[in-house]
Amino acid sequence: MEIPFHKPYITDDEINAVTLCLRNGWLTMGPKTFEFEERVAKLVGAKYAVAVNSGTAALHLALCCAGLEVGDEVIIPAMTFAATSEVVRYFGAKPVLADIEPDTHLIDAKKISAKITPKTKAIIPVHYAGQPCDMDEIMRIAGENDLMVIEDAAHALPAWYNGRSIGSIGHITCFSFYATKTITTGEGGMAVTGNAEWAEKMRTLRLHGISKDAWKRYSKDGSWKYDVTMNGFKYNTTDIASAMGIAQLDKIDFMTAERRRVALRYTELFQDCPSLVPYTVKEGRESAWHLYPLKVNTEKSIVSRDLLYIKLKEERIMTSVHFIPLYHFSAYRNICGEPADYPVCESVFERTISLPLYPGMKDEEIEFVARTVIAICG
Ligand SMILES: *Cc1c(COP(=O)(O)O)cnc(C)c1O
Repeated sequence: MEIPFHKPYITDDEINAVTLCLRNGWLTMGPKTFEFEERVAKLVGAKYAVAVNSGTAALHLALCCAGLEVGDEVIIPAMTFAATSEVVRYFGAKPVLADIEPDTHLIDAKKISAKITPKTKAIIPVHYAGQPCDMDEIMRIAGENDLMVIEDAAHALPAWYNGRSIGSIGHITCFSFYATKTITTGEGGMAVTGNAEWAEKMRTLRLHGISKDAWKRYSKDGSWKYDVTMNGFKYNTTDIASAMGIAQLDKIDFMTAERRRVALRYTELFQDCPSLVPYTVKEGRESAWHLYPLKVNTEKSIVSRDLLYIKLKEERIMTSVHFIPLYHFSAYRNICGEPADYPVCESVFERTISLPLYPGMKDEEIEFVARTVIAICG
């Protein structure tokens, strides 16, 4: 049996939607994109949604709304993808890392306050693996210190925190539609917010900073006249991608249920194995289950995480590691500390492996993965 790490869930729905878009002839951002925005806004309970060409672009535009300046600081978790911090560095600002919780791998809200300085402008919590961070505590700290909360929800469409949808809590929430994410448009992203001014700013910035309705300047309703009101970016998405996104949204309930089924089955299968630590979701939180991060119990397992990865590959089971902490990268040397500064993140990183998880994964495939992992770790 060969088990890929991820399989995008693409059916004739996406193929037909994209084909229709190609036949219609409107390829770049247009009506399909606005429909996609409305659908996502409605799904996550946000007032406004701004579609862009990546989750990274969404984070960048969100930080533009925070008015970040050179020398400012933004607090992010030690364990995240480079995108969360690179956008901070675009501004000449500094990503300040906070250590994570050992069980959820989420930013430890108790460690945020100690990181706040007069230069801190924002917090970017990352809903790692699809599990919402402790948003009540994060919003409270942000409120007390006048900070903006920009949620990196690249893993968390859809997810819920105490009954509230991710996308309806922070100031701006950013989703990703990268090929491996819970819904995909190949590449893509979206920023959602309840603030009309920020939404308008992000809309303008995503297409060169051109004034209103720039997207239709080549259509019969448009005009060649426009103003550039801000120095913008080329971050708009295409209607081809958005048509695909709408088709994905049509079955998001099914895809989410499938991910959940796979994840809960893994947890069940690993429950009684002392060499492994199944991933847990806290009370009151619903994960989107983008990832299943399994931890090796290094005191009981006969192999390390590194060896487990290699041995699984030999059995043709593909896995991955999320994430290599930022402070391990050469581009981050002398920027955000060293391993000793983040003991929890370091210990989680050394022991964690992400297992195959995708809609349509058969029960015998899940069992094969679990059986093989248990046999390797002992
Ligand atoms: C994927 C990802 C992003 C960036 O999304 P892109 O659409 O690839 O730009 C940001 N943050 C995290 C945690 C991610 O996993």
